[in-house]
Amino acid sequence: LSAKDRLLSSIRTIPDYPKPGVQFRDITTLLGNANAFATAVEDLAQPFIGSGIDKIAGIEARGFILGGAVAHRLCAGFVPIRKKGKLPHDTVRVAYSLEYGVDEMEIHRDGVKAGEKVILIDDLIATGGTAEAAVRLLGQIGAELVAACFVIDLPDLGGRRKLEALGVPVRTLIAFE
Ligand code: IMP
Repeated sequence: LSAKDRLLSSIRTIPDYPKPGVQFRDITTLLGNANAFATAVEDLAQPFIGSGIDKIAGIEARGFILGGAVAHRLCAGFVPIRKKGKLPHDTVRVAYSLEYGVDEMEIHRDGVKAGEKVILIDDLIATGGTAEAAVRLLGQIGAELVAACFVIDLPDLGGRRKLEALGVPVRTLIAFE
């Protein structure tokens, strides 16, 4: 199997979750497969080896699992981006829209020092609303965002274009139409 096929075949699709008509891409099966997990982490990290990345920013919660492993691979630090109210120290916060209503996410104000080179990581990009909010947080604390990386792209939902319009290079490993 190619690396791509190994990733594709390790992801489980759950029909009608969390509501009718949605095909949920479940990466717990990828994480549970040693070979697929290693492939995903290595592919995410590969373009940035030796490029002086200071920190990986991971989006709660699956971005923590992948981002932590990529941080280790790149000898970088890790900074969590969380739902509001979970981080104990001084934070910056942004509101972002979900399909129904709005939510807020936060990062520690001192999580990244101004000018540090950061890569944003999450498992999947759909509409890009979540990642866009994370990009805004990183911008507010002065991060130099090098790229936003995701295992899965859902290209029909336009998230990649949304981030690219903000000037953020986007890298994804596989796509589901
Ligand atoms: P977006 O904000 O519309 O781009 O949605 C992306 C966010 O929702 C990410 O944090 C994903 O983890 C989560 N998400 C949306 N759809 C799926 C899915 O099919 N599988 C896993 N996570 C998903």
